[in-house]
Amino acid sequence: MSDGGLDDGPVELVLRSTRVITPEGTRAASVAVTAGKITAVLAHDAEVPAGARLEDFGDDVLLPGLVDTHVHVNDPGRTEWEGFWTATRAAAAGGITTLVDMPLNSLPPTTRADHLRTKRDVARAKAHIDVGFWGGALPDNVKDLRPLHDAGVFGFKAFLSPSGVDEFPELDQGQLARSLAEIAGFGGLLIAHAEDPHHLAAAPQKSGRKYTDFLASRPRDAENTAIANLIAQAGRVDARVHVLHLSSSDALPLIAAAKREGVRVTAETCPHYLTLTAEEVPDGASEFKCCPPIREAANQDLLWQALADGTIDCVVTDHSPSTADLKTDDFATAWGGISGLQLSLSAVWTEARRRGHGLEDVVRWMSSRPARLVGLDDRKGAIEAGRDADFAVLAPDETFTVDPAALQHRNRITAYAGRTLRGVVRSTWLRGECVVREGEFAEPGGRLLSRQG
Ligand SMILES: [Zn+2]
Repeated sequence: MSDGGLDDGPVELVLRSTRVITPEGTRAASVAVTAGKITAVLAHDAEVPAGARLEDFGDDVLLPGLVDTHVHVNDPGRTEWEGFWTATRAAAAGGITTLVDMPLNSLPPTTRADHLRTKRDVARAKAHIDVGFWGGALPDNVKDLRPLHDAGVFGFKAFLSPSGVDEFPELDQGQLARSLAEIAGFGGLLIAHAEDPHHLAAAPQKSGRKYTDFLASRPRDAENTAIANLIAQAGRVDARVHVLHLSSSDALPLIAAAKREGVRVTAETCPHYLTLTAEEVPDGASEFKCCPPIREAANQDLLWQALADGTIDCVVTDHSPSTADLKTDDFATAWGGISGLQLSLSAVWTEARRRGHGLEDVVRWMSSRPARLVGLDDRKGAIEAGRDADFAVLAPDETFTVDPAALQHRNRITAYAGRTLRGVVRSTWLRGECVVREGEFAEPGGRLLSRQG
């Protein structure tokens, strides 16, 4: 870590705002940057060193770039769904400076070390922000997990129910036990899509345009049971596990109790569970379809409480697009996935503010905690000396109406179309370079990140 002293070389850039969100709170400050790193957080009126450039954002908020650890980029193989060029532009436009790509929906999936190399080769020249990778745990790739870990993936995703794509089968309880034992053996992290296949199979499966039928087909019990099993298995071998895209508030007491008992479990939820409700999904509107599903307003209230009390650790997008033809009006067969990358900060901030939370809370949920989840918290997730100079500049009180035409992701389908959101991202900065400002993008300058240690 740098101490911000003279050893860092001359200050090249000073970012100034009356509202800088630091780990100690929000204050007027000037942030000094040298060689892509924050070297000091100084007084607002600190003298700008000779040779340094000043960017004064006035009263717009300077916050650490967001870290989104749940993104399906789908590149290579399903690039018509999404790709590194479009996904990283959408992310940057939304104030995200680091994303971690999920191991599935690309071809190949990231389930072997040579597949990871293929993915990295594809991503390298297209990344407008920093990009890391999750590996995948399949029924037959236990021997590949350690090589993937050594090659730098941040952990391993497992499905406990069918994933939606044939090349990424789910683990049964025995296979989960084997993968967990292997991963715990080298100190890795398993992240799980937690829905129990038996509960899903037992639920009424009606096709058609009615959202209530779809909701009934993915009951809370499926999530609750899968999470209970995951926690039990993690506790048995002292493995570190993370619950992806938590939707069922019924599972919150389980997670809270496990944390109290010392099980190494964390949990995330997503902007759509926090800002959209089952009651308002129009029939046939499969842009709202994801698994587990968006649930009722009363469920949403409890998710917010759990964020406030720390039972849920972080908020990440689960951006998972497809082409428009797969988003049919039949909820049973339409592709499940919500495209929220570019809108996540504004969507969460709009609702957080309405519920009395501050931007510091949003930064904790969407930047600091996800950075910690993947062990990047020495470099990302806070404005303090020694970290990467990654920032978003936000006009927090300004509103806009979501126009799909203004979105950067490949297929401009969004559940947020027509909504009025609060918080406009003015510019996004990666290691001291402006990635996007007022819709103008720089050439891609993102780096490929690997797990450290
Ligand atoms: Zn996902």
